Amino acid sequence: MTRLALPIGRLRPHYDVVVVGSGYGGGVAASRLARAGKRVAVLERGREFVTGEFPSRFPELRQELQVSGRRMRTGSPAGLYDVRVGEDMHVLVGCGLGGGSLINAGVALRPDPRVFHDRVWPEEIARDSLLDEGYSRALTWVRPARDPLAAGRTKVKALARSGVALGKEPVAAPVVVSFEDTVNAAGIAQPGCRHCGDCCGGCNIGAKNTVALTYLPDAVQHGAEIFTLTRVHHVARTQDGHWQVHFERLEEGGPAAPTSVSADIVVLAAGTLGSTEILLRSREQGLALSGRLGHGFSANGDIIAFGYGGKVPVNAIGLGHPPKVEGIDVGACVSGQIEVVDAADLSQSLTIQEGVLPSALAPILPVLFLPNGRLLGALKSLIAGVYKGPFAHLQTFFAVSHDSASGRLVLENDGLALHWPSAKDEAVYRRLDAMLEALVQQVGGSYVKNPLAGTLMGHQPATAHPLGGCRIGRERADGVVNHKSQVFDGCPGAGAADVYEGLYVIDGSIMPRSLGANPLLTVTALAERAMIHLARDRGWRFDPAPRTRETPIPVAAPGLI
Ligand SMILES: Cc1cc2nc3c(=O)[nH]c(=O)nc-3n(C[C@H](O)[C@H](O)[C@H](O)COP(=O)(O)OP(=O)(O)OC[C@H]3O[C@@H](n4cnc5c(N)ncnc54)[C@H](O)[C@@H]3O)c2cc1C
Ligand code: SF4
Repeated sequence: MTRLALPIGRLRPHYDVVVVGSGYGGGVAASRLARAGKRVAVLERGREFVTGEFPSRFPELRQELQVSGRRMRTGSPAGLYDVRVGEDMHVLVGCGLGGGSLINAGVALRPDPRVFHDRVWPEEIARDSLLDEGYSRALTWVRPARDPLAAGRTKVKALARSGVALGKEPVAAPVVVSFEDTVNAAGIAQPGCRHCGDCCGGCNIGAKNTVALTYLPDAVQHGAEIFTLTRVHHVARTQDGHWQVHFERLEEGGPAAPTSVSADIVVLAAGTLGSTEILLRSREQGLALSGRLGHGFSANGDIIAFGYGGKVPVNAIGLGHPPKVEGIDVGACVSGQIEVVDAADLSQSLTIQEGVLPSALAPILPVLFLPNGRLLGALKSLIAGVYKGPFAHLQTFFAVSHDSASGRLVLENDGLALHWPSAKDEAVYRRLDAMLEALVQQVGGSYVKNPLAGTLMGHQPATAHPLGGCRIGRERADGVVNHKSQVFDGCPGAGAADVYEGLYVIDGSIMPRSLGANPLLTVTALAERAMIHLARDRGWRFDPAPRTRETPIPVAAPGLI
């Protein structure tokens, strides 16, 4: 596919709209506002990856790994896999054009309706029916589907054997994967899935319906301009009522380039960590905001864990493209899941998904598991390759549930830090440990909660579903944005529900609680809903309909680059 991003020299001094970040929230905003005929720029800190450029070998994966924590940082600040090592919890997020969609498993679930009955949500969300419209548009654009052959996949059969322990049978999981050749909602041709399992490493086939293959090309087709390697630091209000977006370039040795751009409207869509950090820095620079900024961080009751040494074959190590071995059919990263619904107590409901580790990790898996004393088994795998021996029996589990959303994001030593000292004591982890242990033991394996526990990763919980920090509220005292995603004005004298004109946050950071479902569909739905409100408030119109035929990406005019 043609590249979407433009060189920074093409950045204009002013846009109608600047969108910061290019995950689900940013993609929706850029597409809808470009369709409304607005001049839109997207600023993304990561690089653009076109299909085929995702790491497929360990040295490439290592180059794309950035790890940062209190007083430490390794790897490129534009590395695709962004690991934040925390004292209370670790967080993994995506960094690249397309955000988390590039490296997620693509499971697209709508939360239990009871999640939206919680009074933390402003009444308008339930009342105005636009949430349903948001989900409907999201489904049209990211197109979740169930693998028609899910039940026959070895890893799903293994989950079925394990599920006996809970008296539960797995069902096929909806994932944003095209299982057949198709032309997607943006008019981009996508080949069908090859079942290589590498979705979390990055799909080198182009079958995963990422934001980079859907909303972002749609935005470009409607005139949006995208700039990568551009990390936004803070936003400030100008004297004339515009917004100035201040950024730094992450391109080493790049041309001298502007370091700020102005806009009538700024949409912060830098993800839970990114948008909260930008607003915390903006507050340091004088922007008055809600005192709730940074509060209410949730890990979505999310964990990744393993079953090692089980008696049943699993085949849940990705094959990559071209496949590293022949004769094994893995399936998409997630094909099946076990749903545990507690009708009396929402907080006890959870979903356990079987998952696949990316093929680029294959050579180091034995090493990862060595500290846990499985030397003999691991050596056997080193010799036979991880596609045979004990690693062919390795079960990987992703689970989502509910937590108390009581973490707090703060600025510390010029970086973002997560404070949640009681995180490891959250009841959800005990419940999930007990269930996962039962699943693993059912097939004769041992439960490995964290193979990296002996390293700098310690025993803290980890999440790939960070939520909150700029949560939705009714007024400034209980939220950072209102139900339309407009940022509350914290200036002295401002009314409790007054908002800044033209400043929005539209991403996972606005969630006021755990969802108990993988977040991508809800982030997308609330972004679609916010766009409907934004357009209505200004009398703008856009057509959200998908393309019906293949549509080329406009190539930047020669000489302009
Ligand atoms: C390994 C993994 C597996 C997952 N699996 C699933 C799954 O199966 N289903 C599911 O629903 N969810 C899954 N998730 C989570 C899901 O991908 C996220 O919830 C989702 O991407 C959040 O969307 P967002 O728009 O809030 O932000 P993101 O998708 O995180 O996008 C934010 C973007 O902003 C950019 N950015 C950050 N800071 C700045 C800055 N200062 N300046 C400019 N740009 C910035 C980032 O680089 C990123 O591109 C997974 C995540 C991971 C990491
Ligand atoms: S299984 Fe492979 S081909 Fe299919 S979506 Fe995932 S990475 Fe792409």
